[in-house]
Amino acid sequence: MKGRSFLSTANLSPAELQQLLSLSQNYCDVNNNHRLLPHKLLRGKMIAPLFFEASTRTKVSFERAARNLGADLVDLQIGASSIIKGESVLETARTLQAMAIDALVVRHASSGLPAFLADNLHIPVINAGDGWHEHPTQALLDLLTISQEFGSFAGLNVLFLGDIRHSRVARSNLFAMQTLGIKVRMAGPPTLVPPEMKALGAEIVRDIDQAAAEADVVYLLRIQWERQQSGFVSSLSEYSKLYGMDEERLALLQSHAILLHPGPANVGVELSAAAYAWPRSRIEAQVNNGVAARMAVLHWLLAGD
Ligand code: ASP
Repeated sequence: MKGRSFLSTANLSPAELQQLLSLSQNYCDVNNNHRLLPHKLLRGKMIAPLFFEASTRTKVSFERAARNLGADLVDLQIGASSIIKGESVLETARTLQAMAIDALVVRHASSGLPAFLADNLHIPVINAGDGWHEHPTQALLDLLTISQEFGSFAGLNVLFLGDIRHSRVARSNLFAMQTLGIKVRMAGPPTLVPPEMKALGAEIVRDIDQAAAEADVVYLLRIQWERQQSGFVSSLSEYSKLYGMDEERLALLQSHAILLHPGPANVGVELSAAAYAWPRSRIEAQVNNGVAARMAVLHWLLAGD
């Protein structure tokens, strides 16, 4: 994989996904025991995070992952860069490449922008979230969290609940989960669950209580206000009553089921405080696994075997 970009989960084979997951699991143990950090692996490499959209988890975990492996980071703040003087994203990326930067980690509101950069550069580009399109490293850390819980994937039933339409997390997970034999269901307000999800392989369900009761994993999604005009949701209180995870709905879940959320969570909207703190919520485990999954991706692309 050395030298390749990491743009999507759609083109990853079952073997590649499993390889990335076992590398992630190794790094999970390493990240949580700092004495074991392999500082030498990417020593001398320099990685540039280019975040054109807000981020807490993804940005910090990529930075942590790079440092854990011994790489250095370019500290370029988009708002203080030559982008403000009218330079294009491509020229900015070419400028970094000309300084022998080894890889770019890119988040942008435009779907397809990381792929466009990858087509025009010779250094690897990692997609850290592009518009509504994909967020492949999020899917990897989610699968790691699921595998820690269940051991294997085949036959598992995952319900995505919420704003599917604008969710790059749902898309990247859908592609990877199908590759691994997971059954994916999706539910939410009809305005926010596009019918094309069926063509992509998900089952769209209307009876949320029944689907939640049958799920091994319930994956909650935030309403992505920044990607939509008003009008998809009539009111927040109606949304949270009909589509949110509260104590009543939690009580329907199987005893082995877990709750996931990519963050940031809007507590009181898509889930209640009780759901966030539910003993089988794995939201913090996802955050922890984010560092390991991103170490695995950096290793894969920059260190080779
Ligand atoms: N953090 C995730 C993303 O960047 C999910 C979200 O923002 O709701 O797509």
